[in-house]
Order: sequence, then structure tokens, then C-alpha cells
Amino acid sequence: MNEIESSSCIFCRIARDEVPSQIVQRDDEVVAFEDLDPQAPRHVLVIPRRHISSVDDLDPGDAELAGRVLLASAEIARREGFAANGYRLVTNVGKDGGQSVDHWHVHLLAGRALSWPPG
Ligand code: 5GP
Ligand code: ZN
Repeated sequence: MNEIESSSCIFCRIARDEVPSQIVQRDDEVVAFEDLDPQAPRHVLVIPRRHISSVDDLDPGDAELAGRVLLASAEIARREGFAANGYRLVTNVGKDGGQSVDHWHVHLLAGRALSWPPG
């Protein structure tokens, strides 16, 4: 990804604090913030700071970073008290997967019973 693309990626901009968001937690590699259009009582997006378009663009060298994104998602769920009743982590990939923002993100959905299978 070049600089121009990164400056137009909304999640890169959120990670850099260039646009406002409700940050849930952040460290040097992972940022979590509230979804603008929540689909559950609790809906958090967890992203790598570095621009990776989707799971389809993960390289073997990204294994640790991918693990950190998942661990951060579980940590937030546990800290906020959702681990006992359960929650859902979703990552949409591409057009048929329903991905609308091309910066890899994990949705953490919690706070109600979620239906399965998805539509
Ligand atoms: P996707 O459809 O790619 O799986 O999920 C993208 C998510 O990003 C959607 O749930 C959408 O509501 C959220 N979203 C899109 N733009 C923004 C934004 O500018 N700020 C925040 N906080 N969430 C956003
Ligand atoms: Zn990005």
C-alpha cells in the first residue's frame, strides 16, 4: 500500500487518530474502536495498525500480528464481561463475504444471542 492509499483508508486514519472514533484499547500494533453502526449491544472493531486489506492478504510473516488481533478481541470480551455468555468474532472477506472497508478488521459482537447461520 502506498502513502496515498493509506491516507485515504478510513481505518488507517482512525489508527493514526486523524479521524475521531471511540477507542476501546490500543497498543503499538493493534487498535480497537467502537463500530459506527452497531449490530449488537456491543460492537467493537479490532484492527492491525498496519494496513492489511483482508485476511486474504495475510502473509506467513503476519502470523504473530494476526494472533495479536485475535488475542486483543478475546481480551476485550473477557474484560467487558462477555466471555461467560459468549460472543462472536467475524471477519468478512471480499464482496461475497460482505466486506465494505478494505482494511482487515475483526468484528466483536456481544450482548445478545446472535443468530446462526448468517443470511
Ligand atoms: P465490513 O462490512 O467491512 O465487514 O465492516 C465494516 C464496518 O466498519 C461496518 O460495521 C461499519 O459500520 C464500520 N465503519 C465504517 N466506517 C466507519 C467509521 O468511519 N468509523 C467507525 N467507527 N466504524 C466504521
Ligand atoms: Zn488501512
